[in-house]
Amino acid sequence: MDRFAVRFSYLLPIEGEAIADGVVVVENGEIKAVGRWGEVDVNGYNVIDTRPSIGLPTLVNTHTHTAMVAYRGLADDLPLFKWLQEYIWPAEGKTVSPEMVRLAYRLAIAEMVSGGTGAINDMYFFQEVAAEVMEEIGFRGVLAEGLIDFPTPSFKVPEEGVRRVREQMALNGKFRYVRFGVALHAPYSCSPDLLREGYALAKENRVPLHMHVAETEDEVRQITERYGKRPVEYLNSMGLFDGVHFVAAHSVHVSDKERAIYREKGVKVAHDPESNMKLASGVAPVPDYLNDGITVGLATDGAASNNDLDMFSEMRSTALLHKVVRMDPTVMDARTVVEMATLGGAKVLGMDSLIGSIVPGKRADFIAVSLDRPHLQPVYDPYSHLVYAARSGDVEWVFIDGRPLKKEGGLTFIEDGEIREIGERLKEMVLKALKG
Ligand SMILES: [Zn+2]
Repeated sequence: MDRFAVRFSYLLPIEGEAIADGVVVVENGEIKAVGRWGEVDVNGYNVIDTRPSIGLPTLVNTHTHTAMVAYRGLADDLPLFKWLQEYIWPAEGKTVSPEMVRLAYRLAIAEMVSGGTGAINDMYFFQEVAAEVMEEIGFRGVLAEGLIDFPTPSFKVPEEGVRRVREQMALNGKFRYVRFGVALHAPYSCSPDLLREGYALAKENRVPLHMHVAETEDEVRQITERYGKRPVEYLNSMGLFDGVHFVAAHSVHVSDKERAIYREKGVKVAHDPESNMKLASGVAPVPDYLNDGITVGLATDGAASNNDLDMFSEMRSTALLHKVVRMDPTVMDARTVVEMATLGGAKVLGMDSLIGSIVPGKRADFIAVSLDRPHLQPVYDPYSHLVYAARSGDVEWVFIDGRPLKKEGGLTFIEDGEIREIGERLKEMVLKALKG
């Protein structure tokens, strides 16, 4: 499939207006032409007709811990600190290994591709293993080892973690789909020294710096007690936003003054509405971020606090949550939300020169959502359908780099039997470790 064209009932290039009866022409994984059927030359190209359908760029998940699918549904209905300290961290301590990471990424990527996601910003452990799995499948992302003060499955002391990250930096450029970034877990779990080291690594290697910031009121209280400043003010006072591509996940409890810092320093926000709702963390001031021109992408967070990696469901939650909180049905309109889930996300990952919109010159990363469903008829507005009516299961085709990873509703890189086997194997590993 070096040269082909894909036809849709509605094509949403994101940069530019929707095209009724649109077509995308692809050559060697690159988008060559985009336009209305009949007006674009498709002579000599194999035409894939996905109609009735909506075509749009792959969705970008801007903050996740992919391998945490292993803990999906293991501990629910708890506040963040109790959930982390009593369940997630102990379970991770006993179960995360290269083998577990390999299995969990295969499962998670199957879930994500199935629901139209084509790129991730990921913070976890043993990320070289994750990189191998992603390269094998051909799935994009920025991967970063989560630096933290405590012993983790992949490093016992922070210095060892920093060494690992340094080694990963040396691998950058060797992969087609993966780039290693730097991740600092959070202001409350990283010492000022570790923050400075992580920052220096990101700056020196010109890679994104990814961190949980201002997620809960508890965090704001802890940081204010320790350092006399709110989290964003504290990080800013250390110069952590200067001259780096900073991705601040959550950013729920950010004051007006702190928002001005984000704007001034070009900090990017990964918005995780469902994780924030499930852990009762609060509601990020996303309409204000957008008004200020701050780049915002959508995210699922790890599957243990969600409990899925479904970006359609995040789009819908984003649109509904901010309306009810602001008591204003006009905020977070459908088009804005679709833009955040695609081009916004690509900007958060620093990958918008490659993906995020369907325009000539970018890579052929796009999906087809079937409209051949009772809950998607009739169609007046494709943006509205994507946000308010479509489900991840309606995704029929997923192309990444011009390769079909989902084709006519079926995944091309994994069998259903393997998915079930991985699920059983992970459960066995987790339950055995928790008993031991
Ligand atoms: Zn997270």
